[in-house]
Amino acid sequence: MEETKKLFCGKCMVEMLPAPTGFSYLGHAFRTDVLRCPSCGQVFIPESLAKGRMAEVETTLEDK
Ligand SMILES: [Zn+2]
Repeated sequence: MEETKKLFCGKCMVEMLPAPTGFSYLGHAFRTDVLRCPSCGQVFIPESLAKGRMAEVETTLEDK
């Protein structure tokens, strides 16, 4: 992980902590650590991570 800056939930004002979270995209399921609010459960997905994962999934689909 290149960046470990702290983020705080806008609603609860508590520090968001990394937690393994499952996602699904175009029928594919994958799991990765994202920052999540321990109070309300809201997750923060960095744009770089989202784009990287989406590109990865799309590449996999194109290979079929
Ligand atoms: Zn919260």
